[in-house]
Amino acid sequence: MYKRLCPDLRVASIYEIDLEKLWARGIRGVLFDLDNTLIEWDNNRPAPEMMKWIREVRKRGFQVCLLSNNSVDRVQEIALRLEVPFFAPARKPFLRVFRQALGSMGLSPEATAMVGDQMFTDILGGNRLGMYTIWVHPLSSKEFIGTRVTRLLEKAVLRQLVAKGLLKSER
Ligand SMILES: [Mg+2]
Repeated sequence: MYKRLCPDLRVASIYEIDLEKLWARGIRGVLFDLDNTLIEWDNNRPAPEMMKWIREVRKRGFQVCLLSNNSVDRVQEIALRLEVPFFAPARKPFLRVFRQALGSMGLSPEATAMVGDQMFTDILGGNRLGMYTIWVHPLSSKEFIGTRVTRLLEKAVLRQLVAKGLLKSER
């Protein structure tokens, strides 16, 4: 149970992700969560720095795709600006849309990373399929009310993962 919630990697932000290491691991595609991973939940202006970084990821040969539980309208607007394909609403952690995204990229789960800020959607879904999962610290503490509740559960699971030696306590 806990292992399914344990990310393979934990980072403070997307910019800490080592793209060379990811490539060396055999990863060729990256699915990104949107809200509080790439952009603040209550913001619809992508940061220039983030857009530049996503361009860099693609330039290095990775396929990139957005996988968001938010509405089509919200996700489409940002996906268009980033010039990347998207799936929304993805209903993570259910696997159907994860599989659709993998199918569209023509990649296996093992060759794909899932990057997101939520343990119970992004990390759980990615782990269930055997993807490489990267847990990022949320960009903003402003969140959908339901998410604030799951953050409490995340904290409890995090304590267990640290106690079991599966994850380090610091980011
Ligand atoms: Mg998120």
